This record gives sequence, C-alpha cells and structure tokens, in this order.
Amino acid sequence: MLKGRNALVTGSTSGIGRGIAEALAEQGANVMLHGLGDPGEIAACCIALRERCGVTVLHSDLDLRYTENVEALTRYALDAFGSVEILVNNAGIQHVAPIEQFPVDKWNDILATNLSASFHTIRTLSAQMKQAGWGRIINMGSAHALVASPFKSAYVAAKHGLAGLTKAVALELASSGVTVNTICPGYVLTPLVEKQIPDTMKARNMTREQVEQDVLLAAQPTKRFVSIRELADLAVFLCSDQARSITGTSLSVDGGWTAQ
Ligand code: NAD
Repeated sequence: MLKGRNALVTGSTSGIGRGIAEALAEQGANVMLHGLGDPGEIAACCIALRERCGVTVLHSDLDLRYTENVEALTRYALDAFGSVEILVNNAGIQHVAPIEQFPVDKWNDILATNLSASFHTIRTLSAQMKQAGWGRIINMGSAHALVASPFKSAYVAAKHGLAGLTKAVALELASSGVTVNTICPGYVLTPLVEKQIPDTMKARNMTREQVEQDVLLAAQPTKRFVSIRELADLAVFLCSDQARSITGTSLSVDGGWTAQ
C-alpha cells in the first residue's frame, strides 16, 4: 500500500515509534528510523527490517532537543530519499514530579522534545508535501493531550500543545492532500512507562504494583495496556487513501480513559 512512499519516524529506536516504523516498512515504505540507543542494536534492526521488507532503512541519532538538529534531521531525510511523504512525530520523554519541585531543565527538555521538535519537522517538511499534493503527518499525543494527571505538568502541557499544533496545521494544509492528526494512546508498556514507575512510586509513596494497578491502569476502564501493534495499525490506516478525510483530529486509543 505504501510502496514508493518515504517515511520519517522520530523516536523509532524503541517502543511505539519502532512498531510504527516497522508497520510502515511492512507496507512498502522506505523508512528513516530515528532515535537514541545502542548503535550495534540499531544497526542490526535496520539490516533486519531492510531484509524482511525489501525497503530502504536509514537511521539518525540526532538529539531533538536542539532546533539545529531537528533541521539537520529533516534535511538528511530529504537528501537521502528525495522526498518525505509520511512524517511521524513520535519522539517523547516524561518526567514525574510535583510542580514545586519540577526541575526547570526537565521542563525545557520535555517541551523541546515532545512539542517544539514537531513544529520544526512540520515547518521544514510541509512545503514539499504540499507541492506533491499528498502527505501524512501523524503526531504522537497521549490521553494527556486531552486530560491531565497530577505531577506531569510539562508532559501534559506539551501534549495539549501538540493537539493544538495538529489542528492549526491541519487547517493550513487541508486543501493540499496533506492530513495532520494526533494519536492519543492510553498506557502502553514501553521503556517510557517503565522509567516513570519508580518516580511515581516516590511521588505518591506507593509500591510498583500499586502504581501499575491504582495509577496507570486505574484510568483505563479496559484494565489492560494498549498494544504497540494497535497503534501501528492505526498509523498505517491514517496513511491510506481511505483516511484522506480524517484531518485535524485527536484519535483516542485509550481503553475508554477519556470517555470518563
Ligand atoms: P520510548 O521511551 O520507548 O521511546 C522514545 C523514543 O524517543 C526513543 O527512540 C528515544 O531514543 C527517542 N528520544 C527521546 N528523547 C529524544 C531526544 N532528545 N532526541 C532524539 N530522540 C529522542 O517511548 P514510547 O513509550 O514508545 O513513547 C513514544 C511516544 O508515545 C512518546 O511521544 C510518548 O509520549 C507517547 N506515548 C506513550 C505512551 C505509553 O504509555 N508508552 C502513552 C501515550 C503516549
């Protein structure tokens, strides 16, 4: 379905982004993986995906906290592929702390990675999508793009911002064949969630089991984590022609969390 398309998926060396990049490659898209991690493992992942799907697979490890790096990333993707039709802004980080103790550097890093990097990738890639008359921009939001939880001020602010950015850009690109949407997952058991469990245990004085049951899954009426495959399949659908009228939306995949 996506043969001949080129995709840039930020934060795709791990978790949800990796699942989406693999699903796009399975559909025939060339993919630029992006993100931090062990160089040997990432190289092995690129080779395996290339051999399995018969597509071009590249990787960049530029740190998205810095504007010039985001610009270099999109330039690299354009130089390597000639065009980028699918952009998935997925890279994200989290920090959990009460507002009075929230570290200023964490606030800055979260806003830069989870929000501003998406502004910069969209800013630098949308012109050529518009010109081609086809494009798909998928921003990885969260249930926290729609509702809040305590101790996550920076993350909630950044994700709400991303939902707003999605709407504004969707309107600007609406008549050009380019759609822009936010996927809003509930909890998915990835390294990002694993990492916040100890902080939440500390902030709320809870055991690990209490955090999983009473904090993470307490909000999710289905009482199970969302799977990476569910999100990857939705991303593939958003890239299909059947999804051409879906734009400017926040699509919840949260087990009923935000219905409450
Ligand atoms: P993850 O920690 O498994 O992966 C995050 C990816 O982002 C990695 O590839 C990492 O290298 C990259 N990254 C982080 N900071 C970076 C930086 N400064 N520069 C470059 N790359 C950087 O996380 P995940 O759980 O797969 O999360 C992916 C996205 O999904 C995030 O935007 C997250 O907010 C969102 N999300 C996750 C959940 C969940 O429950 N896991 C729920 C809702 C939304």
